[in-house]
Amino acid sequence: MSNARKGANGTTADCAEFQEQLPKLFESGEDLSTQEHLKTCENCSALVSDLEYIAQQAKLLLPIHDPSPAVWENIQTALKKEPTPTK
Ligand SMILES: [Zn+2]
Repeated sequence: MSNARKGANGTTADCAEFQEQLPKLFESGEDLSTQEHLKTCENCSALVSDLEYIAQQAKLLLPIHDPSPAVWENIQTALKKEPTPTK
């Protein structure tokens, strides 16, 4: 899915590249406002403020301190491994 054409939302290949890095940037707790791309791209800054809002809401909702996606993956894997007790 690496389409370099300009999308309907005005997103570019730069946007795709930036958005690919977003999860990592979020996880590392990096200050996203220092990202060069955000200074020049309204689309991505809007996306980031959306994501930051969602992340804040998620922190309020989740009773754990570190809601890393990896944690949920581990839980799901563990659940799948768990042999379902059959009668
Ligand atoms: Zn962008």
